[in-house]
Amino acid sequence: MSVIAIDGAAGLAALRERLHHDLSLLELPAKAWVPPRSVNGEHIHDIVIVGGGMCGLVAYFALKCGGMRNVRIFDRNPAGREGPWVTYARMETLRSPKQLAGPAFGIGALTFRAWFTAQFGEAAWNALDKIPRPMWMDYLRWYRKVLGIPVENEVQVDSILPEGDYLRLALSGSGAREASILARKVIMATGRDGTGIPNIPYFVAGVPKSCWAHSSEDIDFGTLKGKRVVVVGVGASAVDNSAEALDAGAAEVRHLIRRKEMPTINKMMGIGSFGFISGFPELPDEWRWRFMHYSFVTQTPSPRGSTLRVSRHSNAYFHFGKAIERVERSGGELLIEMRDGSRLATDFLILGTGFTVDPLARPEMPGYAGEILLWKDRYTPPEDMRNRELANFPYLDSDFAFQERTPGKAPWLRHIHCFNYGATASLGKVSGDIPGISEGAQWLARSLAARLYAEDVAIHWQGMLDYDKPELLGDEWAASEIEETVGGGAPRAVGKGN
Ligand SMILES: Cc1cc2nc3c(=O)[nH]c(=O)nc-3n(C[C@H](O)[C@H](O)[C@H](O)COP(=O)(O)OP(=O)(O)OC[C@H]3O[C@@H](n4cnc5c(N)ncnc54)[C@H](O)[C@@H]3O)c2cc1C
Repeated sequence: MSVIAIDGAAGLAALRERLHHDLSLLELPAKAWVPPRSVNGEHIHDIVIVGGGMCGLVAYFALKCGGMRNVRIFDRNPAGREGPWVTYARMETLRSPKQLAGPAFGIGALTFRAWFTAQFGEAAWNALDKIPRPMWMDYLRWYRKVLGIPVENEVQVDSILPEGDYLRLALSGSGAREASILARKVIMATGRDGTGIPNIPYFVAGVPKSCWAHSSEDIDFGTLKGKRVVVVGVGASAVDNSAEALDAGAAEVRHLIRRKEMPTINKMMGIGSFGFISGFPELPDEWRWRFMHYSFVTQTPSPRGSTLRVSRHSNAYFHFGKAIERVERSGGELLIEMRDGSRLATDFLILGTGFTVDPLARPEMPGYAGEILLWKDRYTPPEDMRNRELANFPYLDSDFAFQERTPGKAPWLRHIHCFNYGATASLGKVSGDIPGISEGAQWLARSLAARLYAEDVAIHWQGMLDYDKPELLGDEWAASEIEETVGGGAPRAVGKGN
């Protein structure tokens, strides 16, 4: 889609004014209220956010609005390249409808729509079908800038370890100002694979790495020109990678799909509502499991536009019922053997196999990730609803905090808040996808404020006792005596001023 700026710079300048005016009308951000802390002369950060993608940005803004200012936010990627949008996402447009308020946090001037129309006008907005992917990243860059969110880029949080009452975060990377810092709370806004890793199936174990890639890797599609490519799976990422390979001139692209039929219905999108967002976390385990299991089994289809982008190529194929049994390299090609006995030769394999949720795989929690309470520790589903993937999700507290599997073994887990895809099984769709992200950030900020306040309650109490600034100066009233009357007459006030 091509859009012509009406006067982009002036439009954005006016929008910035409007936004800051709206914020001032709402008295946002609230004044800072968390008492500072230090230990042995070292500053303690109230909250550290790991990840400066969409979730990290909205979380930071929510905390700031709530008067929590002693906050740092880190991202290992260079500025403007956080998250998947201009790194490994390969779709032309977002799946989400363009009008979703997403990270706007209830403020009209912060919406994608306001940002878009400020630059391109209403007519272009009406003509826009879906949001072009790189444009969404441009919007997030503006969001960060206009709100002054101080993401520290090229800082990797290597580990989070307990130290006394606090958490010590080891930092590395060219942007790191310190080797380590102390924090009271940590928010893991680490993304789609933020509580796990890319899902790499066993059958590539012996295959040279030059012959395969996971869809989340940096793939040089130019090198696939004239090559035969197999894409494993048919989810959104699988289809987008397939389209990229075809557009780059691959000789053929074949999707090998384990399931027998194409998933076509986006169940979770269909039932999205304020009720679902608010009600899901409060449902009993049985119901939460049932919803999630069903959504996993029915699978989210790839978007229509992405699928058509593949099938408009005559050399694209969708093969259903093809579970891969074995892959081996032979005579310069890859031989794939399917469970149904069929065989196929190809040159390159792309794994569109998604991500696993597996806290143990995360390097940031060395030695204690195994202490995280998981769904499998808390809930045993009926036989026909067994689900290994779901069973590995962390069983979070209502404030996104991890919980201990064995009480007392890793109590610091309650200070680490999982604000990423890993929270889905416990709290629903409020910590990853665009639609519910502001609600999620709002809950998170409230919960953290409540925790910080409770931990400092003695200081706040003392603050109440010490507060001595009079609101009345003494010249606003006059005390009077009551002159007792005998015999039922009205009392007559006597005193200063009478
Ligand atoms: C290909 C793709 C397409 C999607 N399309 C849509 C869509 O159309 N609509 C929708 O609603 N949702 C979509 N999603 C889902 C969701 O909106 C995105 O995943 C979104 O990026 C989530 O934001 P996030 O902040 O949780 O994660 P991210 O944007 O991935 O940000 C996480 C950040 O954490 C950083 N990080 C991780 N670990 C560390 C560490 N140890 N130290 C420092 N930094 C770290 C990473 O560098 C990254 O920048 C899509 C997801 C993908 C993967």
